[in-house]
Amino acid sequence: MAATQRIQDFLRREKPEGPCLVVDLKVVEDNYRAFDRAMPDTRIFYAVKANPAPEILKLLANLGSCFDVASVEEIKLALQAGATPDRISFGNTIKKARDIATAHALGISLYAVDSVEEVEKVAAAAPGARVFCRILTDGAGAEWPLSRKFGCDPAMAEDVLLKAHQLGLKAYGISFHVGSQQTRLGAWDTALGEAKAVFDAMARHGINLQMVNLGGGFPTKYLKAVPGTGSYANAIHDGLAKHFGNALPETIIEPGRGMVGNAGVIKSEVVLISKKHANDDIRWVYLDIGKFGGLAETMDEAIRYPIVTEKDGDEKGLCVIAGPTCDSADVLYEKTPYPLPLTLSVGDEVLIEACGAYTTTYSAVAFNGFPPLKAYVI
Ligand SMILES: *Cc1c(COP(=O)(O)O)cnc(C)c1O
Repeated sequence: MAATQRIQDFLRREKPEGPCLVVDLKVVEDNYRAFDRAMPDTRIFYAVKANPAPEILKLLANLGSCFDVASVEEIKLALQAGATPDRISFGNTIKKARDIATAHALGISLYAVDSVEEVEKVAAAAPGARVFCRILTDGAGAEWPLSRKFGCDPAMAEDVLLKAHQLGLKAYGISFHVGSQQTRLGAWDTALGEAKAVFDAMARHGINLQMVNLGGGFPTKYLKAVPGTGSYANAIHDGLAKHFGNALPETIIEPGRGMVGNAGVIKSEVVLISKKHANDDIRWVYLDIGKFGGLAETMDEAIRYPIVTEKDGDEKGLCVIAGPTCDSADVLYEKTPYPLPLTLSVGDEVLIEACGAYTTTYSAVAFNGFPPLKAYVI
């Protein structure tokens, strides 16, 4: 996603000093409407952690979005944006008992769990709440897989939800997350089959689950093309029909990256271009933003952002791209060097595209004295 005209105009007009993220709300609105159109029977819970800018939350609240939150602070942000408590899901499977109690007092009644131990906490601190159990997925096909930290084996989900029922909670459904930046449309099919197995197991206990939380994973276009929202909606629809037949459950999605990723552009500046050896072909290009300024998803070079300069018409050569801090981990692309114009020089502006998700929230407070990533929402 190239910088929109509105973003380009903003940068020309305001000339903000230092690296910054500029988010175009019109793109966020388009993304929301695309999800809503493609999946009209599915409620949308925006994953707040992707970008919690108040302007974004407010826009989405006005459009009718619900919110997936991970902390009391995120609950408060969603409430301040105008969401009512019934439109908020406490989707973190790792919560302090006192945070559950605070959420309960604020009126939140939907909670994620993935263990009997967490169910006991929710039952004590939020009596009577609805809970859904997150099951593990392998994350295959995802550029930012979520590993084994969240979710339990589907067979264990039965025990978790039975426990919830016994403790007076409402065993409400199943959730999964197929991995972020999931480019494999078939990823949902496998998980839906596993979710259905848990529905069946619970039905044998006389407990009817109602909801499947399909999670996030919807991609943003970085360098490679990705299928459109409609393709994801079709794949999910087919998976639901295949496994649930005409006993379709209530469904929700939790897009984070897919909602805001392509809405933001980071403006950066070249600080230094040098070589490590006189005979090297590869140049090192140091920018005024790096891993600690918000580009943490370049870890293991997982996310490869489109980088645009005003000299892109000129011949290009491969570069290692690094950030400005005094930490040797602050290198963005080295294993796979990045082609940049040979004429690029110190002081040139560089636009890093598709940065609307997981940048401001990942930027350090003042590592080496560099301030956290500034953001403008227009
Ligand atoms: C982070 C997260 C999401 C958003 O994932 P994306 O891949 O950015 O869409 C959704 N649900 C949960 C529970 C999450 O933790």
